[in-house]
Parts: sequence; C-alpha cells; structure tokens
Amino acid sequence: MVSRVIPVDPFDLVIFGGTGDLAQRKILPALFRRFCAGQWSDTTRIIAVARSPHGADGFRQIVAGSLQDLGHSRDTATLTEFLSRIDYVHLDAHSNDGWHALSDRVQEDRVRAFYFSVGPELFAPLAERIQANGLVNAKTRIVVEKPFGHDLSSAKDLNAILAARFDESQIYRIDHYLGKETVQNLMAVRFGNMLFEPLWNSQYVDHIQITVAETVGIDGREEYYEHAGAMRDMVQNHLMQLLCLIAMEPPAKFDPDAVRDEKLKVIRALDSVEPHHIVRGQFSAGPLGPSYREVVGNPRSTTESYVALRAHVSNWRWAGTPFYLRTGKRLVARSSVINVMFKDAPHSIFGEEAGRHANVLSIRLQPNEGITLRVTIKEPGPGGMRLVDVPLDMSFADALGPENQDPPGAYERLIMDVIRGNQTLFMRGDEVEAAWAWTDPIIAGWQSRGDVPKPYDSGSTGPGDAELLMKRDGRRWQGIKP
Ligand code: NAP
Repeated sequence: MVSRVIPVDPFDLVIFGGTGDLAQRKILPALFRRFCAGQWSDTTRIIAVARSPHGADGFRQIVAGSLQDLGHSRDTATLTEFLSRIDYVHLDAHSNDGWHALSDRVQEDRVRAFYFSVGPELFAPLAERIQANGLVNAKTRIVVEKPFGHDLSSAKDLNAILAARFDESQIYRIDHYLGKETVQNLMAVRFGNMLFEPLWNSQYVDHIQITVAETVGIDGREEYYEHAGAMRDMVQNHLMQLLCLIAMEPPAKFDPDAVRDEKLKVIRALDSVEPHHIVRGQFSAGPLGPSYREVVGNPRSTTESYVALRAHVSNWRWAGTPFYLRTGKRLVARSSVINVMFKDAPHSIFGEEAGRHANVLSIRLQPNEGITLRVTIKEPGPGGMRLVDVPLDMSFADALGPENQDPPGAYERLIMDVIRGNQTLFMRGDEVEAAWAWTDPIIAGWQSRGDVPKPYDSGSTGPGDAELLMKRDGRRWQGIKP
C-alpha cells in the first residue's frame, strides 16, 4: 500500500526564531522532508527571521549544516533547490526596523503562516507588528509552540494577546504529540471499527494506563525545566491530550471544532486529584548521569522530573474507571504507550487452574509505533486446557508495507495541516485554559504543603511510591519496555 502525497498550494511560511534550536532541529528538517516527498514546491517561500545579521546565503549554509548533522542528506540538486526557497530577514521583534523587508517578501493571495518559534515573551510584540505592517488577512495563520503559558493566568494572557489581533480560526497551538501517526490511529481504531467502541466504557474497561517515559534528562533546558517540572512540561499538555483522545465521546464529524469540543468536555469532567493519588519524583545520580539537583545546580531543588497520578473522568462513560498517568526523565527506557486494561471475563468455564488473562489493548506511540491486542488462547499441546495470552500485533510498518516504514513525522504533518487550514490536531484556547485549570491546584497544593519529590534511581522505573499507588488499588503498572 503506497501512501499518497497530496501537494499543497504554494504558501509563505515565516519562521520567527529561524536560527533557534526548534527551527533548525524540527521545523526546517520537517519542511525539507515534505519538499523531498513532493508535497510542496513551485513558488513557495520559507522566510526565516531572527536578530542575527546573517544574509540569506549565510542562513542557507546554516540550514544545510543542520540538515547534514541530522542525517537528512540528499542529492545536491534537491538540497540546492530546497535551499533556494529559503530567505532570511533579520529584525528584532521589539523594534519596528526590518519589517518592510519582511512585508516585501510576503505575497498576496496565498496562505501566509507565521510560526512563533520564539519564547512567549515575544508573542505580544510580534502579533502587534504583524498587524501594524498590514500582514493580517483572511489567509494569515499563526503557529505557536508549547509551553502555552506557565499557569492558567499566563495562558489567559497569551490567549488575550493573540485574540486581540487574530481570530481563533487563525491560531494553531502545537502539541506535537497530536501529530503522531499512532495518535491519529487511535481515533481511527476507536471510531472506524465496530469492535472497540461498545466495550470502551467503565463496564468493560478496568483502568487505563498512560506512560510517557524518557531516558533523557533535561540537559540544555535546565533553566526552563527547573521552573516547569514534569507536571507543566508533560502532564498539562501531552498526557492530557492523550487522555482526552482515549476518553472523549465520538465526535459527530472529524472536524476541528467537533473533535475539540469533545476533548474539552473530558478535561472539564476531570475530578480534582487527591494528594494521596499523586507521586512526584526526582532522579538521583546513576549510570545514566548526575542527579537532577546536580544538573540544575540547585542542591535544594524541589522540581519534579517524574509524576504518576490517578485521574478520574466523572461522566457516564467512565465513572469508576481510573486513568493512571505517569511520565518521567532518566527512566529505564524510552517508551510512550497507552494501555487499555479490560476487565476479567466474568466467569471462567475452564476453572481457575486454567489461568485467566484480561485483554489489554496497547497503543504504542514511540518507539515502534503500533497497536497490540493481547487475547487469551489455549496453550498449545496436550495436557488439558491451559490458557495463555498472546499478542495480536499490528506494527504499521509490517501491516502496511515497507513504503510506510517512515511515515511523516509529527512536525511534517502539523505544518502541512497549518497550510491546509485544518485545526483538528491543534489545541483550542479554551482547551489549554481548562487543562491549566485542572493542573494549577495540584501544583499549588505541592507548594503550600512544601512537598519534596521522592528520589528515584536514574535508569529505574521511577519512585517506589508509584508502584504503591497502583498496589493500593489492587493493580500494577505494565513494564516500561523499549
Ligand atoms: P532558541 O534556540 O533560544 O531560539 C530562539 C530564537 O528566537 C532564535 O532564533 C533567536 O535568534 C530568536 N530571537 C530571540 N529574541 C529575538 C528577538 N527579540 N527578535 C527576533 N528574534 C529573536 O529557542 P528554541 O529552543 O528554538 O525554542 C523556541 C520556542 O519553542 C520556545 O518557546 C520553546 O519553549 C519552544 N519549544 C522548543 C522546543 C525545542 O525542542 N527546542 C520544543 C518545544 C517547544 P537571535 O538570537 O538571532 O535573535
């Protein structure tokens, strides 16, 4: 099965922060890969913007170097053609100088997307100057990165800054987890099959586990992370989005507002989390490197690099089915997976000695994206009826053929969706605010109680208390496997 590439119309993409880490490591390589796939060409232009006084040629050399470092090498002709679409303008977001040069490069009558790949403190001056320079029209789109705020109040401020200049339909808040192939497949599996949806409720689902485990630490992001922690960095956005997609009601249509309305209802239905249903952790020194406190240079840091919690969606579908979320740095393996743990069969006709195995649907986001359903069968061979559970494995690469082994990355898909004007996989302003409204009291509780995270060994599965969180409920975490 060959995946189809549907070309997009020519567009102008302005990347504020074009020299920065995100632009060089993610945005420009994503554009390059879509260019190589033939998704865009013609008169499309990418205009990178930053303060450093590079010329266009100098900037193109930087991009060529970044692509090479990341292993995106192609034949020279393709690379040269890609680079020829890139321009560079240097200006300071706080100054009015340089904006004419930028305006001159943006064409009429085509999509013009402004990617704010800069810190949120630049959103207001950029939004103001984009408008003041006549760059806002019906085809203008604004792309903003996480973190979208530090708490509810700052998220409201950012929303207000953007809403003063742009319509919500023009604002694309990126959570790159939503661009992952498997995340969309989760919706396809749920809503494209008759098989799962009738069972997708508290009557049949015992509980759900969402794990986003990383082996990396926080190197290079120390300052940001020390003020954020795992709750703000991962739970408020990525894990919350995954929870929404698992828990939401079927939208009437796969269209942006229908999907986002249903996600918002899930967030609003979340109960507040009791302190004894949350475990915070902080990694200690180990074979993977120094301790968190050494990395941030703060021997008293109480920032968490790990969170495990039990959430509850208080609605008709999920009453009584807990959602266990966990995420952490410097864990034993890099693994993002959602496990839907079904209940045991109500009665075993084979007798308890034959064994019992509940079904588990595992949705793997990384690595090895795919979906596995564990089903119970008879253990082969003579000697009576003994039951074992085996995986029905759907690795997308195996099922869909070798040409699908390398599907577009999250940034590739999301940037093309911006150009197409499809907001389905982007967070709406009210969704982000609702997620902060749920997260803020948890963080405030830690602060008021002077909570100190539990230490855990680098390279482990996290603090022992996270195991207890499950054990108290008569459950246990699935292993964290690469
Ligand atoms: P970065 O490496 O520090 O880059 C910042 C960019 O902004 C540079 O190109 C810088 O270039 C430009 N810039 C700074 N001040 C400016 C000004 N006054 N006017 C115009 N340009 C200015 O940051 P980053 O890691 O790319 O991150 C950018 C944003 O994405 C941040 O909000 C970050 O939280 C978010 N984000 C990053 C990642 C990631 O993997 N890096 C992931 C998710 C989200 P000059 O200094 O030359 O002006």
